[in-house]
Amino acid sequence: PVILAIESSCDDTAAAVMAGGEILANVVATQQVHEQYGGVVPELASRAHQQHLIPVVQEALRRAKVEKSALDAVAFTQGPGLLGSLLVGSMFAKTFALALNKPLIAVNHMRAHILAHFIRAPRPQFPFLCLTVSGGHTQLVIVRSALAMEVIGQTIDDAAGEAFDKTAKLLGLPYPGGPHLDKQARLGNPTRFPFPVGAMPGYDFSFSGLKTAVMYFLRQQTAQNPDFIPENLPDLCASIQHTIILTLLRQLTRAAHDQGLTQLALAGGVAANSGLRAALTQLGTEKGWEIFIPDFEFCTDNAGMVAMTAHFQYQAGDFTTQLISPDPRLKLN
Ligand code: ATP
Ligand code: FE
Repeated sequence: PVILAIESSCDDTAAAVMAGGEILANVVATQQVHEQYGGVVPELASRAHQQHLIPVVQEALRRAKVEKSALDAVAFTQGPGLLGSLLVGSMFAKTFALALNKPLIAVNHMRAHILAHFIRAPRPQFPFLCLTVSGGHTQLVIVRSALAMEVIGQTIDDAAGEAFDKTAKLLGLPYPGGPHLDKQARLGNPTRFPFPVGAMPGYDFSFSGLKTAVMYFLRQQTAQNPDFIPENLPDLCASIQHTIILTLLRQLTRAAHDQGLTQLALAGGVAANSGLRAALTQLGTEKGWEIFIPDFEFCTDNAGMVAMTAHFQYQAGDFTTQLISPDPRLKLN
């Protein structure tokens, strides 16, 4: 099938075209307006989606060299995400599908982050274990098939991306802090400042303790030396990143052993983190596990992953109707 997919769950306006599972175009317009506020402002995000959506869709169709009439389905992100942002994408997709008389497919954003692995080779085989680490989620998921997934662990407080962004903010780095912290961490010593690794029973995660520990530590140190942060920035970043990676990989390793799964996949925006990629790759080598990490463009929010998910749903006959509404808290299963 030829599918047009729309993604608008947070602050990226994206459209993709896929034909028979092959990605033909993947266009993303990232909103710059939030940077000055140090976080996503929902009202501004919806307005920017309204401005960007039509040009982004037109660009995707143009790059794919696909006419509207040639589409077999229109897909969109139903949730989870910001309600206003989701509304813009869903209203557009519903209107477009209605006007063209095409079937409509509603996609779960967190499933899409996982199924991003099937856009390009190497593709994992079912079942595999996926660690989804994004701005709003941290989940360990057993992926039994494209449509059957089970969450076996998740964060009880902050997501991994939030742990990066909030600690980066404490260090005075621009928003979103994750990529800046990653860059600084490459120059630093990861064991210089030991921070607590959030230990949770089962396969759950916790990151709020780290944020608090970093906050008190910085307060204490800067009271003695006002230049403590600038003088130690790379070591601070490396130590924080190291702690987040340890927290993530400890639960991932335990789950893989318990579940007897030897294919491990990483998904979501934090999968772009160079330290996490390297640590997971090394873990794979040590344990003889196969590691899968999608290309960068399919890790952060994009519509390619929505198109891929819609492709599987199309094959399964999983269509929706004009009565569908966005669900900001849509669950994975
Ligand atoms: P969700 O998918 O849960 O709704 P989201 O879509 O906003 O959240 P993503 O776009 O998947 O999240 O990921 C964004 C997050 O990834 C941000 O927190 C950002 O800081 C983080 N991130 C991106 N690159 C890096 C990096 N190199 N190192 C650490 N974190 C990173
Ligand atoms: Fe996302």
